[in-house]
Amino acid sequence: FTEADVYQQSFDPQAYLKEFYSMTDGKEGANEFLMQNLRSLHKMFSLDGLRGGTLIDVGCGPTIYQLLSACEHFQEIIALDYTDQNRQELEKWLRNEEGAFDWVPVVKYVCELEGDREKWAEKQEKVRKKVRQVLKCDVTKANPTGPVSLPPADCIVSTLCLEGACKDLPTFRSALRNISTLVKPGGHLVMVTVLGETYYAFNQQVFSCLCLEKHEVEGAVEAAGFEVKLSEAQPYTVSDERTDCRGVLSLVARR
Ligand code: SAH
Repeated sequence: FTEADVYQQSFDPQAYLKEFYSMTDGKEGANEFLMQNLRSLHKMFSLDGLRGGTLIDVGCGPTIYQLLSACEHFQEIIALDYTDQNRQELEKWLRNEEGAFDWVPVVKYVCELEGDREKWAEKQEKVRKKVRQVLKCDVTKANPTGPVSLPPADCIVSTLCLEGACKDLPTFRSALRNISTLVKPGGHLVMVTVLGETYYAFNQQVFSCLCLEKHEVEGAVEAAGFEVKLSEAQPYTVSDERTDCRGVLSLVARR
């Protein structure tokens, strides 16, 4: 099991971004994973009631793709992650600094889903403006942002985080209870979780993943006090040496 401190010591944000988010041509299958997730985030954030003042992104990593549909529906975004280098990489992009990752192809794809590929620059600006804070968190702690306490948000989004951060199902279930405190009663949880995956690898490093089934994720979400509104598993059939992932679950629940 890959401990959080291993993430802190050896997770390389630039290598991760290049490997999974560069959307270059000729990586058909590889891009399919990302594009599938962008389509389901678009669909989930189009649902009734997914709007409000604040959105908290739990385990944001160095990425922003999970905020591209979300930013149209919330006024302010707070991004949380355990590792310093991932938060710094994200901030580099937010400040539009040199050497920041190029998200333009991904932003264009989401704008196309929303019906206007030409508004990509506007959307980038929107994300940059709306992300107000980037803070440290640990999903295994009862107060994930401790010692800081955040006012509960209208929505939390978490993509590909808990399954990497939790060593077993009891830890996964308690992590969901922990992050449920970040959202108001009546607010929403939006999750993208890999199913049937035991590892993912990039940059010659292997990270462990809690091998989950759809019903286990749904059960954990319900036990944390949420009502599941949407839960859709899509098979991942691409032959991909970077991971043994067998599917992706998109889930929306209301606290
Ligand atoms: N959300 C991004 C990043 C996923 S990578 C995406 O969709 O691509 C997994 C992330 O989980 C890493 O950024 C890592 O720093 C974070 N992480 C690992 N253990 C954690 C913990 N205990 N608490 C919070 N985040 C953790």
